[in-house]
Amino acid sequence: MGPRTEKVFYFLTWFFQGSSFLIPRAYAVMHRMHHEYSDTEKDPHSPHFFKDVFGMMWHTKKIYFDFVSGERTPESQFSGDLPVWDKMDKFGDSRWVRLAWGAIYTLFYLYFIFVKDASVFWLLLLPIHYLMGPVQGAAVNWMGHKYGYRNYNSKDDSRNTEPFGIILMGELFQNNHHEHPMSANFAQKWWEFDLTYPVLKMLSWLHIIKLKKA
Ligand SMILES: [Zn+2]
Repeated sequence: MGPRTEKVFYFLTWFFQGSSFLIPRAYAVMHRMHHEYSDTEKDPHSPHFFKDVFGMMWHTKKIYFDFVSGERTPESQFSGDLPVWDKMDKFGDSRWVRLAWGAIYTLFYLYFIFVKDASVFWLLLLPIHYLMGPVQGAAVNWMGHKYGYRNYNSKDDSRNTEPFGIILMGELFQNNHHEHPMSANFAQKWWEFDLTYPVLKMLSWLHIIKLKKA
């Protein structure tokens, strides 16, 4: 995408991630490491070195914050061409902005409970909303390298986790993704379906992005 489109998507990333906004450059470095070191000890989030998903996520969180704070510098092979928008990062990462998002989510639920007589049990979903990013990260990284089938005999232990591959917008076709990391379509077999791919196709058709041949 062009630089102006990138800014728009950067902003939308913040808007939709809200309280659990991840600074894109730190995420990008971690994702590149995940591919290079997949399921080895240098992988930032391989399920094979932790007894539960919380241990894995705690480890991921530490690496993420070390990159954000500058305590750890990414290896040069992972730091090329990173998206940087310092002001947006500072704003999205500020405690007050995160708390404001949390308050907005809470008010949204309270509106339905008090004004529309919805059940109070909906509130049980609120913690998932506050932590949507880590919840999705935990699901993808834990299940995607542990449960499911393999189309390719890759060196790592990546898997295609059905039916969650579809629910998580194709993210859980991890085995396909590791075998074809540059492919915009995470589905490879005729019965698999990556819900994000048609969206990318549409954006490409509208000339908002340009898909590269993988
Ligand atoms: Zn993976």
